[in-house]
Amino acid sequence: MNCIFCKIINDEIPSRKVYEDDDVLAFHDVNPQAPVHVLIIPKKHIAKVSDMDGKDELLLGKLVHVSKKVADDLGILDDGFRLVINNGMIQLLVRVIHVLLEVQEIT
Ligand SMILES: [Zn+2]
Repeated sequence: MNCIFCKIINDEIPSRKVYEDDDVLAFHDVNPQAPVHVLIIPKKHIAKVSDMDGKDELLLGKLVHVSKKVADDLGILDDGFRLVINNGMIQLLVRVIHVLLEVQEIT
């Protein structure tokens, strides 16, 4: 499968990991669009919300829960941050469900 996230999970592509457990991996975006730009992904390849089955309910909830831990580790938990759940084709290479944790630059 030619999926960039699966390659990152399998260490075929290096990443700056900030959190990892059996189900979830979080890492800094290689091309950050915000001062803090972390991607939180399920290790199970789920391309779209419409591909989810009932068991994935907990996994997707866990992504949000991990975002809290990551924000705490990065020292931004109390500052406020934005969570974006992307589904399907957002960018050419990113077609898999992931949660973005971003701190917006205030301009
Ligand atoms: Zn994948």
